[in-house]
Amino acid sequence: MKNVLLARQAEVLSRLTRARPLLAFDFDGTLAPIVRGRQEAGMRPETCALFSRVCQLFPTAVISGRARADVATRLDRAKVKYVVGNHGIEGGARAATGAVELDEARVRLTSLVAKTPGLELEDKGLSLTVHYRRSRHPAAAQRAITRVLGKLTRPLRAIGGKSVINVVPPGAPDKGDAMLELCARSKAEVALYVGDDVTDEDVFDLRQPERIICIRVGRSPASAADYFLPSQKEIDGLLQRLISLKEGAP
Ligand SMILES: [Mg+2]
Repeated sequence: MKNVLLARQAEVLSRLTRARPLLAFDFDGTLAPIVRGRQEAGMRPETCALFSRVCQLFPTAVISGRARADVATRLDRAKVKYVVGNHGIEGGARAATGAVELDEARVRLTSLVAKTPGLELEDKGLSLTVHYRRSRHPAAAQRAITRVLGKLTRPLRAIGGKSVINVVPPGAPDKGDAMLELCARSKAEVALYVGDDVTDEDVFDLRQPERIICIRVGRSPASAADYFLPSQKEIDGLLQRLISLKEGAP
């Protein structure tokens, strides 16, 4: 894994100016810092200004685990060409299905959350997320959620994350599917994807280094991404680099 901001990696980003590009970003933990209250999440003003400029210079996508309408309201004035929500399920080419398959999990998780302090259920219609960031016993909370999901009559796909467990219908498109579909739709020859969490690995796992430049926020030897940003704050440095490449600044 290489730090994409190092001078010796400059060549990799410059590919984006020589071909028809697509730049895609996750939201929480990537464009916006992770915050304790998920409703408060937003880009820092500096990031917001840089991201807006990037959106004027490149075709850009945001692929988030949030509901599409939720993440769309957090993009401020940035003119993002494609916004995909629910981990790739909502806003892609394939019609979103599977909401009914979540019904049993919705009922059981609602009752778990009601009796467990610190747990919160986020119902995004096409997927569910159980948050345990506020739990005083995160390991026990995680086990309790996993136990409930293990007893479902029809198993769903559960994906861990930063103090969350995401629940999606089996066979639903993931972020990797969404990325491939956006590349096709935008006729991109080369793409960039930046993300920080477990569901972003579905993009990194595509392993098409010539076509999709994968950057993880935070170094992790377990990640399939080839490049990393040392921390979320460095997203500003990456956005600035992309602007400079296009505008020909040093
Ligand atoms: Mg994220």
